[in-house]
Amino acid sequence: MDTLTVHAGNVTIGGESPIVVQTMCNTHTSDVEASVAQCVRLHEAGAQLIRLTVPSPAQVESLRQIRDILRQRGIDTPLVADVHFSSEIAIAAAEVVEKVRINPGNFHKDHEKAREQFARLVEVCKANGTAIRIGLNHGSLGERITNLYGNTPLAMKEAVMEWLDMCVENDFYNVVVSLKASNTFVMVEAYRLLAQEMQNKGVVFPLHLGVTEAGNGDAGRIKSAVGISALLSEGIGNTIRVSLTEDPANEIPVAQYLADRYDHRLNSTMVSLSLEGKKAVAIYDAPSRERLLMDFACDFGKRLLDKELDEVVLCGSYMEDGVKVCLDGSEYAEYLVDELMQAARRRFYRPEYIACPGCGRTMYNLESTFNEVKRRTAHLKGMVIAVMGCIVNGPGEMADADWGYVGEGNNKVSIYKGKTPVLRHVPEDEAIDKLLELIENA
Ligand code: SF4
Repeated sequence: MDTLTVHAGNVTIGGESPIVVQTMCNTHTSDVEASVAQCVRLHEAGAQLIRLTVPSPAQVESLRQIRDILRQRGIDTPLVADVHFSSEIAIAAAEVVEKVRINPGNFHKDHEKAREQFARLVEVCKANGTAIRIGLNHGSLGERITNLYGNTPLAMKEAVMEWLDMCVENDFYNVVVSLKASNTFVMVEAYRLLAQEMQNKGVVFPLHLGVTEAGNGDAGRIKSAVGISALLSEGIGNTIRVSLTEDPANEIPVAQYLADRYDHRLNSTMVSLSLEGKKAVAIYDAPSRERLLMDFACDFGKRLLDKELDEVVLCGSYMEDGVKVCLDGSEYAEYLVDELMQAARRRFYRPEYIACPGCGRTMYNLESTFNEVKRRTAHLKGMVIAVMGCIVNGPGEMADADWGYVGEGNNKVSIYKGKTPVLRHVPEDEAIDKLLELIENA
């Protein structure tokens, strides 16, 4: 898809440029030393853009220090300030870093006020050559829009179009857009609707793709690959973030695989495909387990999401520690098919998890807590359980979760049933027990 070209420091997004790989720090931005160390690692891992959360004005100063230290060390990877709620922080950050991400769902509730705030932000971005990402998430759609369009992909598209219209009114085009959701079907549909609408209007902003709160491990990788590859294979998407509840450095190889594959630097290791109606039998000869997982998710995610296929059988082999492992009829092949079916929302064989990747707002050890929640709730097939790092954005971002475990800070947790907090200030070491108790007694 032909798009406008956006510049964030030395990185170009959209136009004829290759797909840009990005990630986000999960350090506290106020911890300058830790944030610099993580930025260095992410840069070395191949991140082309690095985002940091900026929850308060004081952290704009931390961001400035992080930027200065990185530049002194010869690392010129553009930095992105992730800003929610405060246009004043976004304006201040726009003078410091190359790109600012705003969440329109969190801007001023009064639309006219939001327009004024945005116009001021645009002026600062124009003066400093700063790019903006308008990053709307499914979970944080405003009431005005959901009253009109429901909690749907159409609502996401309509909401973000209001902001893109504002960019055009302000004659500002250094803008990237994202419409993330944890539900791959919602995410893919929202981006498709937006791509079509921008083409109809003749002003096509580059798209940042991501499946938000995808979780971790194989499930997080498969879910991200399904959503992102479905769009990249249609020529939609210019920059990607694979969001995992893990060390953010782990996101880079997954994202790089997707960039390489859809920029035609890499092919699937599927060696044979036979189709019988809506059933596919695929044979692979993969050099590793990781490669098999990504190839398989990208080869069949879109076809399952779009219901072109109902069933996939995985055969062939992959290499592990120098040994060829046969997939035919194996438990591992069955497991990968189950995970792919769940990621494409065609069959739910275990609970569906929504877990944020964590950032500078995270209030506890998210990765280990998430793994423990997964272990203790594995039997709750079909239930949607969210594990979120902070009380500020977590509840809004949990989208359609049945239950939520949300960090409050000070070793306390809030437990949500749907969008309603049912227990607050639960000590962290009791919170998983309480969550299970509530689920069992519901
Ligand atoms: S929900 Fe998670 S990723 Fe989002 S702001 Fe809170 S801690 Fe950060």
